[in-house]
Amino acid sequence: MTQGLVFNIQRYSIHDGPGIRTIVFLQGCPLHCPWCSNPESQGAVRPLTWVKNGVEETITHWMTVNQVLDEIEKDDVFYRTSGGGVTLSGGECLVQADFSAELLKAVHALGINTAIETTGAVPMRSVQKVLPYVDQALFDLKIMDPIRARDVIGDNVAMVKASFEAFLQADHVKVTPRIPLIPGYTTIPENLQQIVEYVQSVGVPEVHILPFHQYGSQKYKYLKRDYQLENTPLLTTEEVDTIHTLFESQGIRAVVSGLE
Ligand code: SF4
Repeated sequence: MTQGLVFNIQRYSIHDGPGIRTIVFLQGCPLHCPWCSNPESQGAVRPLTWVKNGVEETITHWMTVNQVLDEIEKDDVFYRTSGGGVTLSGGECLVQADFSAELLKAVHALGINTAIETTGAVPMRSVQKVLPYVDQALFDLKIMDPIRARDVIGDNVAMVKASFEAFLQADHVKVTPRIPLIPGYTTIPENLQQIVEYVQSVGVPEVHILPFHQYGSQKYKYLKRDYQLENTPLLTTEEVDTIHTLFESQGIRAVVSGLE
């Protein structure tokens, strides 16, 4: 059976899809966002350790679909009573597309709602593998200028748009664009305007905006890496309001939400 490299399974989440959810975090991500709250997931899919309080810890575990299902099924009653389910996250869960597809298929077969968090920066064949088994795609839109996206986070905007539109075209998938509001990176007016124009062009009426936080900053210390946003201030309420208005004034509903 296919195995997936998992670095966390988080139960009782209420932020990453409807209802109460279990989030399965899969290792590996092609991007290198400086604000990443899961820096341990970046790079190739490979086993990883970090040093926490002077002790080396293994933070990734190879798991079979059945082993992950055993964890997921512990909370079946919560999914059914809250309208929740299972969300695959990362990293970029579509980097492990074969495992993600098998797991989503198995979760679906149990009648449990499925969601993925993705940046879409993967080949179309990876999207196609999971597409039949996804109920909701929480889809990050970050930097829309192709050159800035490539230089700052290693992203491929053409690939992102192709993936986004493939999810949109699948009638059974609810697509929720999510925009992390990162000062100096995604919040510059030109970038926000490009996002507005893109979602308008593909007929998406609503986005979620996720204000910057520093939740993952400690992990950079465990990994002996610098955290570039250490001195970046959080957005003020007024700044978030201004961005909210920018979307709403152009006919796009903007929901302020929690960050991944
Ligand atoms: S896409 Fe997500 S997991 Fe990957 S580097 Fe960016 S923030 Fe981190």
